[in-house]
Amino acid sequence: MQSYTAYSKMYSELIKFLDSKKVQLVAVSKTQPLEKVQKVYDLGQRTFGENRVQELMGKKDLLPTDIEWHLIGHLQKNKVKFIAPFISMIHSVDSVELAQVISKEAVKNNRIIPVLLQVKIAIEEAKYGFDPLLIEDSLGQLRDLPGIDIQGMMGMGTFTSDQEITLQEFQKMSRIYKEIKAQHFADVATFKELSMGMSGDYKLAIEEGSTMVRVGSLLFNSIV
Ligand SMILES: *Cc1c(COP(=O)(O)O)cnc(C)c1O
Repeated sequence: MQSYTAYSKMYSELIKFLDSKKVQLVAVSKTQPLEKVQKVYDLGQRTFGENRVQELMGKKDLLPTDIEWHLIGHLQKNKVKFIAPFISMIHSVDSVELAQVISKEAVKNNRIIPVLLQVKIAIEEAKYGFDPLLIEDSLGQLRDLPGIDIQGMMGMGTFTSDQEITLQEFQKMSRIYKEIKAQHFADVATFKELSMGMSGDYKLAIEEGSTMVRVGSLLFNSIV
């Protein structure tokens, strides 16, 4: 009981901090059991992120229906059809081809799916994301796709404890986001999200302009 009180206090302090910065919390529930997800839901959290379609599909029907699910991990084109009917946001659009498939499935479902464009910012060899130097060439093909609303961008830093590296990567991501917004989405009111920052670096990310943090272990590891 005591530790649940402590946990709930930690959660509300986190939310208070994020609210004061106008930053949205995506609670990353990947690999977490249903009971833990339910506990975070019970504290008021409604936005959860998963990185695998299969796990998401297995969980979603067993949890409250008012959860807004975000897909944050690499998405295979042949899996889009499973999530298109309900997904609230896809953070990980990393190719024109994937965006085209999401567009097609969204139209089939009579939906507009909010998406973010994932950009490679890590100095380590990252597998997924648009090359920052080439993303502008793809925007022409992305901008007018029906059924998707490009609401911003997402970046993942190098997995490191070196805050200086993380800082440089976040600054780079922030610069790219601002440039693309100013030059290509100035007339699009909904293009306003920068998904950046996780448990270990969300404060740094917010200082660099993040509007959405994806926090997993910090939220879930201390639940009893
Ligand atoms: C797992 C994951 C997170 C959360 O990481 P934590 O360090 O546990 O907060 C955020 N974003 C993505 C894409 C992830 O896969």
